[in-house]
Amino acid sequence: MEKNIRNVVIIGSGPAAFTAAIYTARANLSPLVLAGFKWGGQLMLTTDVENYPGFPQGILGPGLMEKFREQATRFGAEIITEDVTAVDFKVRPFKIFVNQKSYQTRSVIIAAGAETKWLGLTNEQRLIGKGVSSCAPCDAFFFKDKKVIVVGGGDSAMEEALVLTKFATSVAIIHRREQFRASKIMVDRAHANKKISFILNSEVVDMLGKDKVEGVKIKNIIDAKISQMPLDGVFVAIGHLPMTSIFTGQIDLDEKGYVVRRSQIHPGGGSTGNYKMMTSVEGVFVAGDVHDYHFRQAVTAAGYGCMAALEAEKWLDIQESN
Ligand code: NAP
Repeated sequence: MEKNIRNVVIIGSGPAAFTAAIYTARANLSPLVLAGFKWGGQLMLTTDVENYPGFPQGILGPGLMEKFREQATRFGAEIITEDVTAVDFKVRPFKIFVNQKSYQTRSVIIAAGAETKWLGLTNEQRLIGKGVSSCAPCDAFFFKDKKVIVVGGGDSAMEEALVLTKFATSVAIIHRREQFRASKIMVDRAHANKKISFILNSEVVDMLGKDKVEGVKIKNIIDAKISQMPLDGVFVAIGHLPMTSIFTGQIDLDEKGYVVRRSQIHPGGGSTGNYKMMTSVEGVFVAGDVHDYHFRQAVTAAGYGCMAALEAEKWLDIQESN
C-alpha cells in the first residue's frame, strides 16, 4: 500500500474527471486521476464534436480529450492509466485498489462514466468485431460499399447512421417503436439522407453468420412476424450502462446502477445535505454520466466535474479546520 495519504483520488478520465482534476489541481490538492486502461471516455469513440463551446469549427473527440488531459497535467494532476479493481469506502482514509496496489485518500470523486448497452443476443456477443459494432466513427470505414443497420431510436442511433452513410451503400435504422427518442434535428437529418431508411416497430431478435455478420432476424412487434434481412454490419446504439460494478455495496446506486447523490436522498437536510455532488458516503463525490442519465453531454459532464471538485475542496477544508 502507498503510505502517502492523498487529498483526492478521481476515478475516470472523461470530461467530468479531467475537469475535476483541473479544479482540484488548481486548488493545490494534488489530485491523483485513476484514468483506466482505456482512458478518455466516450469522446474517444466519436469524430466531430460540434457542440462543445469554444470550438466554433468543431473538434475531434479524441483531440478534445487530449486537451483536457494536457490542461489537468499542466496544473500538476497525476494521471495513472490503470483500472480501479476495488474500493473500500468503509474505512478512513478511503482505500482504492488497482490490482495489488492500493491508494489511501481523504476524498474521492467518482467520474467513471457509462459504457455501451448491448441487445443481449447470444450471436451478438460472438460477432462483436466481426460485423457487430457500437461505434460507427471507429468502424464505419470497414463497411465501405456494404449494407448495414443501426439499432435504436435515440440521438446516438441517428448519429451512427449519418456517420455510416459516408461509407455504406445503405443504412436502415431499426427501432422498436413508432416515435423516436432522438431530437427533432437529428431525426430530420437522418430523414434527409437518401441512404437512410427506417424499419419501425421492429426488434432484432437474432444475428446470423458464422465468422462474420451475414444477416439479422427482425421481429415486427405489431404482427409478431419474423423476417430475415441479409446485410454486412449491425451497429447497436441503444444507450449506455453506468460503470459502477466496483461501487456496489459501497455507495447507494439506483435500480439501473447509476450513483445516487446524497441531496437526492435528503434534499437540503443534515449537515452534508448542501453538498449537491456528494454520494451516500460523506467525502465521496460523483460527476458525469455515472450519475447523470439525463443530459449526458460532454459540457454537462464537465460542469458536474467542476461542481464535484469545488465541493470536495470545501469539504476537505472543513475537515481540516475541525
Ligand atoms: P437514449 O436516448 O437512451 O436512446 C436509446 C434508444 O435505444 C431508445 O430509442 C430506446 O428505445 C432504444 N433501446 C433501448 N434499449 C433497447 C433494446 N434493448 N432493444 C431495442 N432498442 C432499445 O440513448 P442515446 O441515443 O445513446 O443517447 C443518450 C444521450 O446522449 C441522450 O441524451 C442524447 O440526446 C445524447 N446524445 C446526443 C447526441 C447529439 O446531440 N449529437 C448524439 C448522441 C447522444 P425507446 O425509445 O423505445 O426507449
